[in-house]
Amino acid sequence: SKDEKRTRKETLVKLLRWHFGYQDFRGKQLEAIEAVLSGRDCFCLMPTGGGKSMCYQIPALAKHGIVLVVSPLIENQVIALKEKGIAAEFLSSTQHQVVRNKIHEDLDSGKPSVRLLYVTPELIATPGFMSKLTKIHTRGLLNLIAIDEAHCISSWGHDFRPSYRKLSSLRNHLPDVPVLALTATAAPKVQNDVIESLCLQDPLVLKSSFNRPNIYYEVRYKDLLDDAYADLPSVLKSCGDVCAIVYCLERATCDGLSAHLSKNGISSAAYHAGLNNKLRSSVLDDWISSKIQVVVATVAFGMGIDRKDVRMVCHFNIPKSMESFYQESGRAGRDQLPSKSLLYYGVDDRKKMEFILRNAENKKLQSSSSGGELSKKSLTDFNLMIEYCEGAGCRRKKILESFGEQVSATLCKKSCDACKHPNLVAKYLEELTTSIARQRNGFSRVFMSRSTDMIDEEFRIDEQISEFWNRDDEAKSSEEDISDFDDETEAVKSLPRSRLSRKSGVDEKIELLQRAEENYYQNKNFDKLKNK
Ligand code: ADP
Repeated sequence: SKDEKRTRKETLVKLLRWHFGYQDFRGKQLEAIEAVLSGRDCFCLMPTGGGKSMCYQIPALAKHGIVLVVSPLIENQVIALKEKGIAAEFLSSTQHQVVRNKIHEDLDSGKPSVRLLYVTPELIATPGFMSKLTKIHTRGLLNLIAIDEAHCISSWGHDFRPSYRKLSSLRNHLPDVPVLALTATAAPKVQNDVIESLCLQDPLVLKSSFNRPNIYYEVRYKDLLDDAYADLPSVLKSCGDVCAIVYCLERATCDGLSAHLSKNGISSAAYHAGLNNKLRSSVLDDWISSKIQVVVATVAFGMGIDRKDVRMVCHFNIPKSMESFYQESGRAGRDQLPSKSLLYYGVDDRKKMEFILRNAENKKLQSSSSGGELSKKSLTDFNLMIEYCEGAGCRRKKILESFGEQVSATLCKKSCDACKHPNLVAKYLEELTTSIARQRNGFSRVFMSRSTDMIDEEFRIDEQISEFWNRDDEAKSSEEDISDFDDETEAVKSLPRSRLSRKSGVDEKIELLQRAEENYYQNKNFDKLKNK
């Protein structure tokens, strides 16, 4: 009845106020919470910063028993919850054995004190853990399974993780426990894939708008700047001593740009898969604790960057799709305060990315029987990104429309360069067209000669990959045991390159290509050639 519904809502709001100090629920939070508490599956699409975690944290506090949270990044969330006095724990191989045993003891007892149990997807795959869950469930204590970053289950997404595939077994083993899938990835294909792969039954599908009103979008044109390298420090300085992320395509650019920033008095560090684990985590720690201001990173600096006050995300090279761009730029301003997304667009960068994507797609086409649709996907995605940079009109509108949202003319409120300075941006775009025409011949000659070498290198790497897959059945099956590693990416990274699966996603392909390219730079000193 209506009255019951009202009291139920009041109780939930009380929990929110009491434990988190927030006045009221935001967006679709309440709908999601009520759905899962009533036992219904739910798919929840909310932009980064939209408050997804509340959708399973409140249910954990509302009902006696345990909410299981599957997430690739767990430690920080659990620490934050504990600070609020909420009984949350995580299980991972990085924990001390004593701590782990204590948690297991608690889970085995008939009356566990833990309310939110965070685990990695790898742990779910281990047989021992599944039987533990079943036992907890038999006692009627498993209220909800929340799957955070659920897009990782889809190979259509930008962030596919093999360990997520195995989560489908949760439904088989625990058919009547409601599942809540959460993601910030808007692509409809990914969404369907997530719902199917997790076997969600008649889920309540909740979608929020992806508009991030507090982010100001801006593009600067490398071809029109004297030197983007020189431009960035001054932009960062003009923002004050703020926390920022700068994304680059190549590791070498990260190293170079970070050194350049430091030389200009901005404390910064590079972060990419070429650094060892220890160095990477110390960079992350220093940045989280504000010891350094700027991280200059490849896309390896990804999910779980648990800092809400990132004031600027800069793309020093064009990202490969609107989805990646949205995810990465969305790491700015999770505290809802004014923030900035700045993209340096260069025609050279565009060509490089087109080249990388085309090669990756060709390879995929050769190694699989899937048809043309797949083969053009990444290039079509990339075109939206080019249109964002080269096309006239509101940037925000372009982002949101690429996710299928209808956008009113007044939505942006002058919060992008094209809306705030329309004449200036129009002039830039005109100059850009002229500049592209001027550059066309000189550039493509050099680029093509370089491409041939890169293709050779790529073939070589691919041969190594197929050799591994054809030869080494034992090694392949031992990869099933990745559960020993806490973090899937760590596990994959620690494998020798040649052990990457033939079915590697575009991301891994791009990484391989990047390596090929780095070798190429080292061997041929391409930079010098280009500057001639
Ligand atoms: P997401 O996982 O969707 O990126 P989070 O769950 O990390 O987002 O939430 C983003 C921020 O919003 C957090 O600081 C969170 O505490 C805050 N938040 C969540 N729900 C509310 C709410 N109802 N009112 C105010 N702030 C909220």
